[in-house]
Amino acid sequence: MNFSNNQHHLLGTTLNDFTVFCAEHDLPKYRAKQVFEWVYTKGVSNFVEMSNLSKPLREMLAEHWVINTGKEIRRQQASDGTIKLLLEWPDSVTSECVLISEDRRRTACISSQVGCPVGCQFCASGLGGLQRNLTAGEMVEQAMSIRRLCEPIHRLNNIVLMGLGEPLTN
Ligand code: SF4
Repeated sequence: MNFSNNQHHLLGTTLNDFTVFCAEHDLPKYRAKQVFEWVYTKGVSNFVEMSNLSKPLREMLAEHWVINTGKEIRRQQASDGTIKLLLEWPDSVTSECVLISEDRRRTACISSQVGCPVGCQFCASGLGGLQRNLTAGEMVEQAMSIRRLCEPIHRLNNIVLMGLGEPLTN
């Protein structure tokens, strides 16, 4: 999904594609790995925190890429520790993702669509039909948002596509 002025969603981009971008901008190959380590190993969500990158490089990357595109607009916590986040995407649609805690297991339950085309009679998610598919980046972003709720005390160790939508239709 494009944002403004040719910005792209980093969480929806493969390391290979990001390496191609780096090559096209005269950056050495290792820069792509550095950025992905910041995002996926250290869990940062903005370029400012990438302290081994120069300021001009961070600014150039921020011109072309957005790491997080969603905005958390609601958080609810249940007495059993379950936490539900409502994220709003740039086109104003929303989707839910949930952290489920059981013993030492931390599970992210993420959505694959906004609405659902299947319309099972017992489920409210399909009542309004399908609004749109979530992108790969939006699904990764949900998992990363849930991961942030677990760390540093726990590790996210399970991801299920059991939120809004039928993943096999996306
Ligand atoms: S979200 Fe799942 S249960 Fe609900 S309508 Fe879609 S396929 Fe059926």
